[in-house]
Order: sequence, then C-alpha cells, then structure tokens
Amino acid sequence: MTATTPAPQLVDDATAERLAAALRCVTISREDPAETDTAEFDRFVAFLEQSFPLVHAELELETFGHSRLYRWPGSTAPERVSALLLAHMDVVPVDDVSGWTHPPFAGVVDDEFIWGRGAIDDKSRVVAILEAVESALRDGVRPRETVYLAFGHDEEVNGVRGAQSMARKLREAGIRTGLLLDEGGVITTGVADGIDQPVATIMVGEKGFATVRLSVSDPGGHSSMPGKQTAVGRLARAVARVQDHPFPLRLTPVTVDMLTRLRGFMSEPRRTLLGMARLAGPAVTRILAARPQTEALVRTTTAPTVFHGGVKSNVLPQRAEAFVNFRILPGDSVADVLAHCRRIIRDDQVACELTGITSEPSPAPAAGPDFDLIAELAREVVPGIAVTVGLVPGATDARYYDDLAETRCNFAPIILTAADLDRIHGTDERISRLNYARLITFNRRLLDRLAAG
Ligand SMILES: [Zn+2]
Repeated sequence: MTATTPAPQLVDDATAERLAAALRCVTISREDPAETDTAEFDRFVAFLEQSFPLVHAELELETFGHSRLYRWPGSTAPERVSALLLAHMDVVPVDDVSGWTHPPFAGVVDDEFIWGRGAIDDKSRVVAILEAVESALRDGVRPRETVYLAFGHDEEVNGVRGAQSMARKLREAGIRTGLLLDEGGVITTGVADGIDQPVATIMVGEKGFATVRLSVSDPGGHSSMPGKQTAVGRLARAVARVQDHPFPLRLTPVTVDMLTRLRGFMSEPRRTLLGMARLAGPAVTRILAARPQTEALVRTTTAPTVFHGGVKSNVLPQRAEAFVNFRILPGDSVADVLAHCRRIIRDDQVACELTGITSEPSPAPAAGPDFDLIAELAREVVPGIAVTVGLVPGATDARYYDDLAETRCNFAPIILTAADLDRIHGTDERISRLNYARLITFNRRLLDRLAAG
C-alpha cells in the first residue's frame, strides 16, 4: 500500500475556496446549445487553467467545444492506457431559488460545507481530480501508463457534443483503457435496508432509457353526443393498460452479485434467505419488488409521466397524448419497450412511438478486473464500509466510453444520507469539507497506485 497520502481530514480553506470559485460559474447546459451562456463556461475553463498550472503545463489538452480531454503520458509504457477519468462541468438549472439557504451560484463556504449547484453533481469531481493530479505532479508522481481525463460540458443534456465526441476521438485512435471511472454510485448511510454499515455502491453499468408517446386522434364534436369513448377515455385506458402490465420481474447477474456482496453485512433471517438467492430467485425478486427503490433493480420500470388532452369540459377532445418513461434493465432493449407497449395496448387507434432521447442499457454489466482496486481505495478512504455493485438508474457520460474499457466504475467515495441524495438536482446542493477531502484523497491514492511499481 502506498501510505504517503494521508487519511482525509477536512479540506483547508484554500481548497474549499477553489471548489467554491468553480461553483460560482453558472455552467448550466441547455438542450438548445444556442441558449447556453458560453461566457460562464469560458470563465470556468479559465479558472481551471489558472488554478492548476502544473496540470496545464504538463498534460496534453484537446478541446471539444468546452469539453476537455487531457492526456497524461505514461512514464514507462505511454502506449498503454491505465485509466480514463470522467467528470462533467455542466449543471442543471435551479427551479426555485427561494428554497435555498444560500443562492445556488454564490459558492458559499462555511465551517462544514461548500454550498452550491454542482457541489456534488459533478463539479466537485472535476476539481477533485485536478487537485489530485496537481498534487501528484508537485510530488513528482507520474503514472506508469497513460492516463486520460475527460471533462464533458453537456452531460446533463445527454453528452452528445462533449462525451460522445471525446469518446469517438479515443475510439478512432484505437485507445483501450483498463479503468473507466465516472460519477454515479456513492456511499450511503441509512439507505440500504437491514445494513448498519455505510454501503458503497460501485456501479458497473447503467439502465437504459426510453420514452414512448401514446396518442389518439378523434374527429371531436359536442360532448352531449360522445359515442362510446372519447380520445381522452381511449388514451386513459391505454395508459392504464401499460401501467397495469409492467415488465416481468427478473434477477440479473448484477443484482445477484450485489446481494451476494451485501449478504455478510445483513442480519438474519435475510442473510440465510439470500444464501439461497439462486435457488430461491422468485422469493428474492418479490422482496426486492416490494419497494420502488429496489424494484428498479429487478425490472424495466414503467412510469406514465405526462398526460395531455382536451380543451374544455363540454368539447370532445380531438387529440390526446401521454408520455410513458421506461428505465430499461440489461437484457431488455429500447425496441423491446416499444413492442411491449404495442402488444399490451392492443388498440390500433392508439399510436405508439419513441420520443426524445433513448439509451440502451449496458450490454453485460459486471465487476471488471480493476473493480477490486476501486473497492479497496473506497475502504481506505472510509474504513468499515460494505462495498457492493449496482447499476446507475439514469444515464451518464460513461455510456459513450463503455466499449473502450475493461472495467467500468461509476463511483465517488462520499457519504450521503437519503436527504443528501435529494439535494442532487434539488435544493441546497452542498458537499461537506470531509466528503470533499475523501474525494480528493481517493483520486490521489488512485494516481499513486497507477504510479507505484
Ligand atoms: Zn452528473
């Protein structure tokens, strides 16, 4: 073990202030790039260049819009790539500023926290990675094999300009990496049922994503002579059928692995029951399906989210439409989702089509060869934790790089409660000085491992 990097303490004021300065840049990404305030992104990248001089003197940099791909050549085997560290600089907008303790882009630092939009998702990871690389360079630490850093500028609007372009560039250059590390899993406390220890969930893949639009058109007319059903009634029936016929429950290899790793930390009778997980699959899947948080692990989920139709209470609607959002379990596909809707609805008056962004689930997510390294570093930074695998319920930039890596991990070693999780994309996003220190130490120790002989 490389014991040179000390255990995480609270970050000092200067380090906290550097993150706060990053949070003051209003780097909100928009679906329509024309609506993006590019001056704020310019300000953010200027801040990076000024704050991390060694990084910018010694690493090669290529930009893709505001996205930044850094290459840190290996000292002994530069033609090989050991790690690709991803993070994103953009953030989601703030709905209601009034609920915030401090304005979301003020970048306030107090004795315990650094406050602001992006404090967790995901500027803390951009800046922590750079803090780690800068300190490694200062200490003369160099990776044996090449390391890439890739910071996207449009992850929150699907990464089609940033991550997708950077991944394409690496693919075209024939780059293959051992480790791909991105945001996603964290260490939670009080979230996993029946486990007292904090649980680190290192996510090894992600669910897919699709939205199906159901629509009905009708001649309309006066509501006094409606016929058998209106467009609204017909659509309501279709939505109800989709909701009442969910995808089947299914225990995937990742979920089995997750439970196996957690088993030893559980109290009886769960532990014994889980010992029979493969034999008693249906019992385990039923238990997981009982709560929405764990049901997402055992099926492609169905969520009717939008319903439009009608204009006035005494006018027959001419058109009604609904959106149903699906999060797709590995093993199912976007095409399966659409076919499922058509099969279940069985009404050719109801049109079904995909709308918006779609994303396939990770093909065969499993803990890769570098998983144990990430697990070990997590235990070093936060001793006494349970470590398991999981799937990112949403989409991250890592999906564009999936095929380039032997091991994919979506993980940051910060300890969050259920209430903290709600702050992500929510109100009062903040990171504690201690969590931020964990993040920097974790990244630095990773670099030490990639350097050590
Ligand atoms: Zn994010």
